[in-house]
Amino acid sequence: MSENNDQKFVYDFTEGNRDLKDLLGGKGANLAEMTNLGLPVPPGFTITTEACKVYLESGSEPVELRDEVSAHLDALERKMGKKLGQADDPLLVSVRSGAKFSMPGMMDTVLNIGLSDESVVGLARQADNERFAWDSYRRLIQMFGKTVLDVDGELFEDALDEVKTAKKVASDTDLDAADLKKVVERFKEIVKAQTGRDFPQDPREQMDLAIEAVFNSWNTDRAKLYRRQERIPGDLGTAVNVCSMVFGNLGPDSGTGVAFTRDPASGHQGVYGDYLQNAQGEDVVAGIRNTVPLADLESIDKTSYDRLMHIMETLETHYKDLCDIEFTIERGQLWMLQTRVGKRTAGAAFRIATQLVDQGLIDEAEALQRVNGAQLAQLMFPKFDDDYAGGGKGAEQIGRGIAASPGAAVGKAVFDSYTAVKWSRSGEKVILIRRETNPDDLDGMIAAEGILTSRGGKTSHAAVVARGMGKTCVCGAEELEVDTKRRRMTTADGQVVEEGDVVSIDGSTGRVYLGEVPVVPSPVVEYFEGRMHAGADDADELVQAVHRIMAYADRVRRLRVRANADNAEDASRARRFGAQGIGLCRTEHMFLGERRQYVERLILADTDTEREDALKALLPLQKQDFVELFEAMDGLPVTVRLLDPPLHEFLPDITELSVRVALAESRKEPHENDLRLLQAVHRLHEQNPMLGLRGVRLGLVIPGLFTMQVRAIAEAAAQRIDAKGDPRAEIMIPLVGTVQELEIVREEAEQVIEEVRAQTGVDLKLALGTMIELPRAAVTAGQIAEAAEFFSFGTNDLTQTVWGFSRDDVEASFFTAYLEKGIFGVSPFETIDKDGVGALVRSAVEAGRATRPDIKLGVCGEHGGDPESVHFFHEVGLDYVSCSPFRIPVARLEAGRAAAESKGSDSR
Ligand code: PEP
Ligand code: MG
Repeated sequence: MSENNDQKFVYDFTEGNRDLKDLLGGKGANLAEMTNLGLPVPPGFTITTEACKVYLESGSEPVELRDEVSAHLDALERKMGKKLGQADDPLLVSVRSGAKFSMPGMMDTVLNIGLSDESVVGLARQADNERFAWDSYRRLIQMFGKTVLDVDGELFEDALDEVKTAKKVASDTDLDAADLKKVVERFKEIVKAQTGRDFPQDPREQMDLAIEAVFNSWNTDRAKLYRRQERIPGDLGTAVNVCSMVFGNLGPDSGTGVAFTRDPASGHQGVYGDYLQNAQGEDVVAGIRNTVPLADLESIDKTSYDRLMHIMETLETHYKDLCDIEFTIERGQLWMLQTRVGKRTAGAAFRIATQLVDQGLIDEAEALQRVNGAQLAQLMFPKFDDDYAGGGKGAEQIGRGIAASPGAAVGKAVFDSYTAVKWSRSGEKVILIRRETNPDDLDGMIAAEGILTSRGGKTSHAAVVARGMGKTCVCGAEELEVDTKRRRMTTADGQVVEEGDVVSIDGSTGRVYLGEVPVVPSPVVEYFEGRMHAGADDADELVQAVHRIMAYADRVRRLRVRANADNAEDASRARRFGAQGIGLCRTEHMFLGERRQYVERLILADTDTEREDALKALLPLQKQDFVELFEAMDGLPVTVRLLDPPLHEFLPDITELSVRVALAESRKEPHENDLRLLQAVHRLHEQNPMLGLRGVRLGLVIPGLFTMQVRAIAEAAAQRIDAKGDPRAEIMIPLVGTVQELEIVREEAEQVIEEVRAQTGVDLKLALGTMIELPRAAVTAGQIAEAAEFFSFGTNDLTQTVWGFSRDDVEASFFTAYLEKGIFGVSPFETIDKDGVGALVRSAVEAGRATRPDIKLGVCGEHGGDPESVHFFHEVGLDYVSCSPFRIPVARLEAGRAAAESKGSDSR
């Protein structure tokens, strides 16, 4: 880097602009932007992130930096008409960190640089305020001592307390100049004792040391942890802003405040913010005194107030968005210290985006960039009534865990999966409470309204599975002692919650209540369900905004969105939510319950006749399933996947069965059937079922299984056509690794379809394709496309097989450690691993299209509903994504955002 002689490491505020966030950090870029807009920003300069990177890589500042800083400091001194630390009238500066992404409170800032034993006197005279000068000096030594010289901050706090105690006062503001002089002396002694050197009196040395400290603060443990959590890359570095100081604590005609250009909770325009008279920024944060509403500034200092309102309007029109700002008034002069595009609630994001369209500030494509799928998902969960959830009658907060999957759930406490299923079948709402969950709890999790665990974090099994299901979950509520054996849990203060007691859990805050907290449904879901119309008089602003944004997204998106659904009810809901077909119908769900007996018979069959009988019994049931599904999705494609999981999943549990057989033997009761079952269970037992006899392999070794399913699909389609319907069935083969497997199944399937055609006289058109969910399939996609009319990427299995770990086994074991160590930014089961799994998808897309240009390409793994992954699938050119019904609106929105974004970048 430093070989590049043209590189500039320091930019005056007049030289940068808001597009230079990579180089100048967010704060620096926006200070420059405001400066160029002619707004009153205290002059200063920014040291680039590139300088920080050089420092972090090489351990020392770039050689050019010192001279560049000197030149900019000279210019600043000329502009201000005084020198840094000048004895009779010192220029003081702040040295502040500022990375590309905001990392609030994570890095260092030092204010009042330039004060020394000499210049403090000059400042007192200039400000005509001795107390103010000594207070500024003690703040400098304290901040500098702590952040630059690494002195334990408590030593300063203790010393300050001692002086206050000696004077018998409680507040810093009760100390006068003489007291503060004493504090400064004490602070200087602390510095000397702790560091072995005097507090530096040379202002330039103060500044240089502070700059270096800011560079170093990029790599503190807490900054690193924050970046990992927020998925901010670790190599960006921070910029350093050196800004001339302005003071809000010079008397009643001074003050400091924060403001929003509109309400960050509702998006409404108005005057939102807080002001604190005679104070500096830290005082506001520390909450030492109460702030007043910003509107009150009008009566305190009308000129500054009017000026501020005007500036806020300028900023909003310029940034075309809600901005938040920090300002200071120094003796009636308004100064802008910071601005940035402000954070807002999910609901406000949608409202603001449409308001700005209406104001003509942004277009629809830009509106789509102002919202995201995570916000939409947040708006779709039911919530506890805000007024109630803070406490109140009838329900009491008994604990708090990690907000793992949003939503609000109320139900009776149950402590095992079996009871959860049993009670929910009889119409009870239940909350499944476990220490932690494992795959055996899946049935219970499905049956429950929500899941509560006392152990595990955001990537525990409970959290990941619950999020996948869109189910409310609070995990890791450690103060709750869960005793599954005695079916109870005990709170920190010894209260016992028994099975059947009503509990309420809030997956958005992590709060756990005993008793029932009222839940309000999401109006956004009511809208998607068609129960509320955006045009209706009572439709609220939020619903109208969501409606408009969804319309923009649907208009521009290229990706189609389908649903993973395997019954008519889910299919209909998916359709209401905007699904354009079914991308994955998992037929294994049709083999459970009452029908399990036929599967058992199929597995136990000793003769062809026995097997055929079992299949014959299944055929009409399967056919009826498909008839209903095709009807619900009439006119839209329905991809039916032939049976995928290993057969033993349909057989009884090995231990239970062994016990039954042993008991029957000891009692000399007949147990012929159980014994045969047990033998079958042993025969089919696999060490690694995920990599065993499943998917297409099953179809190839169990004669008649796949053909029965194909026949059911074909006959159901024929029946629907007869009934004047428009079924668009697609048959999908799972877990294919080589084209030969597909060719064999294809030949058999075509034969069956031909038979059904002949029998029914209906001209059936059934597409036949495959899942691409094994690395070998992806690598040989060009060959496989010879036999497949479509590919659907099964990114769940593809992730497992590319990484070589099984989801069920590893999420609960080492994922947390991997996330903590930063090996994953996020679980690869949640967001597609672009470099690994994604690269295989990309190359298979290319190979598939090279063989068969009109091949249809989709994805049906969980990633199909994940915002970031949807953008990736758009980029690699898939035709559709398929996801669970509840995530369809999110996928539609993100597909629209991806399209709008790529259009934007094409035209740039
Ligand atoms: C997949 O593997 O991505 C997939 C959709 O199949 P399943 O999750 O049913 O194994
Ligand atoms: Mg799969």
